Amino acid sequence: MITKKNDTTLIHAGRSKHYTKGAVNPIIQRASSLIFDSLIEKKKATFGCTQGKLFYGRRGTLTHFAFQEAMSQLENGAGCVLYPCGVAAISNSILAFVKSGDNILVSNLVYEPTIIFCTQILSKFNILTTFFDNNIGSNIADLIQINTRVVFLESPASITMEVQDIPTIIKAIRAKSPNVVIIIDNTWAAGILFKALDKGVDISIQSGTKYLSGHSDIMLGTAVVNERCLEQLREHSYSMGQMIDADTAYLAHRGLHTLSVRLRQHEENALKIAEWLSNHPAVARVNHPALPESQGHVFWKRDFTGSNGLFSFILKKHLSQEQLANYLDKFRYFSMAYSWGGYESLIMTSQPEELAYFRPTTTIDFQGTLVRLHIGLEYVNDLINDLAEGFKRINC
Ligand SMILES: *Cc1c(COP(=O)(O)O)cnc(C)c1O
Repeated sequence: MITKKNDTTLIHAGRSKHYTKGAVNPIIQRASSLIFDSLIEKKKATFGCTQGKLFYGRRGTLTHFAFQEAMSQLENGAGCVLYPCGVAAISNSILAFVKSGDNILVSNLVYEPTIIFCTQILSKFNILTTFFDNNIGSNIADLIQINTRVVFLESPASITMEVQDIPTIIKAIRAKSPNVVIIIDNTWAAGILFKALDKGVDISIQSGTKYLSGHSDIMLGTAVVNERCLEQLREHSYSMGQMIDADTAYLAHRGLHTLSVRLRQHEENALKIAEWLSNHPAVARVNHPALPESQGHVFWKRDFTGSNGLFSFILKKHLSQEQLANYLDKFRYFSMAYSWGGYESLIMTSQPEELAYFRPTTTIDFQGTLVRLHIGLEYVNDLINDLAEGFKRINC
């Protein structure tokens, strides 16, 4: 069950009078130009232009500062850098710490666009990626070379949901090369389930598109960062022109206030459905970190404080295109769409051969069709009935 320890922070963070001007919520300060009272004030803002000072729209306004403060507090960081989407947070966080000739280590089950960024973009600048096995543990030390600058993790892995032994990986990296920048795509944890910076990670990235906003209506990336890496990440991202509009910052901050309550309901519904699926004769395996048969469950149990609405399962059958269409097109409550983390339920499938194609350095150990679910906040029995009807459509 998800800890309630974050609840008070989530309600109060970033809501000082400086930001709210007496309302409950921060003001929406839409601005490009920010007017200086005097030359002295202009000079003060221009030099040592850090987070929280009004300077120019690209550095943010009070609306951004309020949200950044809340995110830093939630994830125990020294600061938070904002991006127009999660992928921008990932690419810019890596780019800020590498140069031509460097090497980076990336877990081989990460979000597909992260793999593509490494193989198609970084490679153009002679920055080479070594993909490593998700279960590498302390053996990661053997992969660290003299020019290794960044290690990029994601746990649980996108789609297949394997949990990594992050503390062991970090310990091995730091023992060999203390200055390597460790970055994690921590979207699944939503700032609550896994406190990455407390475990020694330098940068915790989230696609704020998912649980932070929670209503499937914005695109956002956040990077909460420790003192050691803050200035370099912030200044690099500023030069790369990374910023979001005030309305998006406002909506994300508004989402934070209900994050913990939403997440607990997602967790409860998803656990019920995962257990129902694991007893269903059509299902070969359920990939849900809280189930003992799921890969890396012991690490989840040790390091995480709960789960959420996102998991996957593998059918015994490999569905044909016709069966897939018949299955996916007719759900009553599960919509077929990318993304997750909103209040509504979503469904998506991947064939093992598709997964193998997009993750060429991994071995796919199953034959059936993989179904990924995001369990929303609906009444759980309605969702179970919807899924049961789906099994009937494919004669399972
Ligand atoms: C969605 C997602 C992203 C990308 O976020 P966008 O906001 O869509 O760019 C990155 N990592 C994970 C794990 C995601 O689920």
